[in-house]
Amino acid sequence: MKSTKYVIGNWKLNPATLADAKALSDELQSSLSANLSCVLGIASGFLHFNTVRASLNDVLVGAQDITHKTGDTGAFTGDVSAKQLADMGADFVLVGHSERRQYHGETSDILIKKIAHALQNNLSVVFCIGETKDEYSRQQTLDVLSRQLDILATFSGEEPPQNALPKILIAYEPVWAIGTGLTPTLDEIASVHEFIANKLSKMGLKAPILYGGSANENNAKELACVSGVDGVLVGGASLKATSFCKIAEAFSAAC
Ligand code: PEP
Repeated sequence: MKSTKYVIGNWKLNPATLADAKALSDELQSSLSANLSCVLGIASGFLHFNTVRASLNDVLVGAQDITHKTGDTGAFTGDVSAKQLADMGADFVLVGHSERRQYHGETSDILIKKIAHALQNNLSVVFCIGETKDEYSRQQTLDVLSRQLDILATFSGEEPPQNALPKILIAYEPVWAIGTGLTPTLDEIASVHEFIANKLSKMGLKAPILYGGSANENNAKELACVSGVDGVLVGGASLKATSFCKIAEAFSAAC
């Protein structure tokens, strides 16, 4: 039997207006073909979350971040908690995206707290990992990923959230492939995904492993057929409804 595939869009700090967010989510909803077999998700910005969620009937909606300070409420000006997000009907949250690690100094300690708060509030976690260009050039990819995955050891053996997603999904996103038009070779992606699956298994975990980094409608078919690729996290190409739908179609087709 074909395993479930996941196609998740990360809208990042886009679009600029609520009207554009509504137009994009309406267009996405109306462009989805009826026979898609993959699970779809969009990680929206907080401000647009409600509107996007109301438009997207057939797509899970999540956020791109939560505070590490608390799962609930408290004196943390400007933050959004897992509880608040879950109360708004979110299905999942991205944790550990390289842009958060790079621009907001998110450390392993911070990421552990975010993951714990999300899971306590029945939000699935899309945990993003990946090596920099420098680390890739020095052939340190597997060491880097291994260290990034180590923090998940705390979370083995918990009950899955009550939605269409497992409690944890991994997104392997080479930092140098994000938004650059560059991707690893298909063989490299296959062997990294195999490494991640083995590492998770040694930690008593099983999670779908998505690829992310310059995925688009032109390379989606070949990415979808790479061994060990259970889906894709899509940045830039998720901002065009037609491109996102084509990627979803590629991941719904049999290889
Ligand atoms: C991302 O930021 O998660 C991402 C995969 O971006 P892009 O598809 O634009 O490379």
